[in-house]
Amino acid sequence: MSLHRQVSSATLTLCRGDITEQDTEAIVNAANSTLLGGGGVDGAIHRAGGPSILEECRKFREQRGECPAGESVITGGGNLKARFVIHTVGPVWHGGGRGEDELLGNAYRNSLILAAAHHIRTIAFPSISTGAYGFPIDRASRIAFDTVSGFLKNDSPLEEVRFVVYSQEDYEVYAFLF
Ligand code: ADP
Repeated sequence: MSLHRQVSSATLTLCRGDITEQDTEAIVNAANSTLLGGGGVDGAIHRAGGPSILEECRKFREQRGECPAGESVITGGGNLKARFVIHTVGPVWHGGGRGEDELLGNAYRNSLILAAAHHIRTIAFPSISTGAYGFPIDRASRIAFDTVSGFLKNDSPLEEVRFVVYSQEDYEVYAFLF
């Protein structure tokens, strides 16, 4: 089950699935600021990708400290099909008055900027911040679509951006706006 839409020269895809199984050049991790792993998407990526990803994340931490919300770092993909993992930190939802919308947009945009800088043409995003971080998914999916579409309209080298959602319920929320 998947939907496709063209934005400039790129294809936007929406599908249900497991982010760790995507065959895009990069997958995005919904990481936390420590970059040292966690539950949800983060745990699944480190389990499937093996220890080399965590090792690289540790090096980033040693050199640059914690990764603030809205920012992204890139590592190799370890044992994953994807060659790269872009770890981004979404905001924790506090009711919407603490800049959560902007920070979530930054998380998507900075991940795309990093991807473009590494000549990555295909990338898959999970639904950042809408699990343990509690961001309402209808609002988050609108930010995801708007930010990605805006980026693709500005002459980007990306050929496919894929949104990978886990549950049928989340798929329906995304599909409504797609
Ligand atoms: P956050 O801490 O940013 O909220 P989570 O990992 O808790 O991130 O959840 C983000 C979203 O990813 C949730 O909707 C969750 O259901 C979904 N999710 C969890 N595991 C996977 C997976 N393996 N592949 C794709 N999506 C997943």
